[in-house]
Amino acid sequence: MSLVHASRLTGRVAIVTASTEGIGYAIARRLAREGAKVVVSSRKEKNVENAVQELKKEGLNVTGVVCHVGKAEDRKKLFIASEQLGGLDILVSNAAVNPEVGSVLDASENAWDKIFDINVKSSFLLAKESLSQIRKSKFGRIVFISSIAGYEPMDLLGAYSVSKTALFGLTKAAASQLGKENITVNCIAPGLIKTKFSTALTESESAREHAISKIPLGRLGNVDDISGVAAFLASDDGAYVTGETIVAAGGMNSHL
Ligand code: NAP
Repeated sequence: MSLVHASRLTGRVAIVTASTEGIGYAIARRLAREGAKVVVSSRKEKNVENAVQELKKEGLNVTGVVCHVGKAEDRKKLFIASEQLGGLDILVSNAAVNPEVGSVLDASENAWDKIFDINVKSSFLLAKESLSQIRKSKFGRIVFISSIAGYEPMDLLGAYSVSKTALFGLTKAAASQLGKENITVNCIAPGLIKTKFSTALTESESAREHAISKIPLGRLGNVDDISGVAAFLASDDGAYVTGETIVAAGGMNSHL
């Protein structure tokens, strides 16, 4: 049974990318718990099957699609799935990669290209490709997942941080373009959230303690610290918010 008793999203259809684990999974689950029909997706078929099975066990209305966000033919499948669910209201662009750890000017050209391809270009393309469906919705919502590192680049996540800064600009520009069509475009900048992605920063006790010492709320974030913010932005409660980035980071800045 659902632990969230809200129905703000009943009748809406959502696509959440990279949603078989971590923050994306939590967002997909939360949107579905609030009544949305959700297209769950990621690259690996097994992960998609497992996520869909788990969510269906809760009685949630989800469908699974294998989608590597960097592949045009995979992105197309997302929109075919949303069309089959009745058309698209909410797009959450959550996928990101960081193939290399290091300072920005030490990044290899390959890593830079991959980071910008997945973290920025795919977000742009997904938003662009969603429009034919989202324009038909009365409740159009686009949400990008950035990072606290987009504000203050983290030394060891140089190129990744710059890609996350780019999403702030994409959010502002797209919100300005789509405002008159009553489509909101917003962004979430998570702090340090317990997922596989952040393991390197949190797995050793000393690294974890160091990180926590920089977080005013005194704890690492949970995935549901982010999913609730996404649900707010996707719902009518967020109807007058656009072009904004909501930081959910326990008060930390990115100087770890
Ligand atoms: P995560 O737990 O490592 O989850 C990664 C998910 O992404 C998996 O479902 C994976 O499934 C999927 N995925 C990876 N590459 C993909 C691709 N190219 N196309 C489609 N799906 C892909 O990561 P996370 O921590 O939840 O991160 C989610 C978002 O939050 C990212 O944008 C990240 O930058 C941002 N963020 C995270 C933190 C943090 O502390 N965790 C902080 C700030 C921002 P497959 O392997 O099956 O593809």
